[in-house]
Amino acid sequence: MRVPPSVAAALNAVPPPHPFDLDLYLSLVQDARGRRILIHDLPRAAVAAVCGAWIPWEGVDHVFIDPAADGLHRDHIIAHEIGHMFLDTTAGRNSGIDTTSLRLLLATVGAPPTVAVAARSGTDAHERDVELFALLTVTGQAPPRQSSRIDRVFSALDYP
Ligand SMILES: [Zn+2]
Repeated sequence: MRVPPSVAAALNAVPPPHPFDLDLYLSLVQDARGRRILIHDLPRAAVAAVCGAWIPWEGVDHVFIDPAADGLHRDHIIAHEIGHMFLDTTAGRNSGIDTTSLRLLLATVGAPPTVAVAARSGTDAHERDVELFALLTVTGQAPPRQSSRIDRVFSALDYP
């Protein structure tokens, strides 16, 4: 298993608490970025398209999450969206979300339709890096430490 340098740097930017504590991690990320993070329930109509999304708008990072997700699943989705905050180098990624859902999310935060949304879906290389970031964040597995259980997850993600 190889952790790409960009993912390692993102993990080092705000080392996740171990054991993972979402509220603590959110406050650390907010302090580091100087931006508030607000967690919203993903509107029902958008749940079919994605299970999480991030909209940076006017000094606030809005994170939407499927209200049905709980426990580790919820932590993981939120960590994934935070991964986008650290790893997205290009604005304008509206991956994996349909126009109707996109409009709904933007309307919820009062943002114009031109604002980019990072939605949790898709399987491209960038999404895989973000997913690796989320996995390492919630499991407290900073590179190069790893366990056989984590290795199996990486294998499932088709990670080298
Ligand atoms: Zn994503």
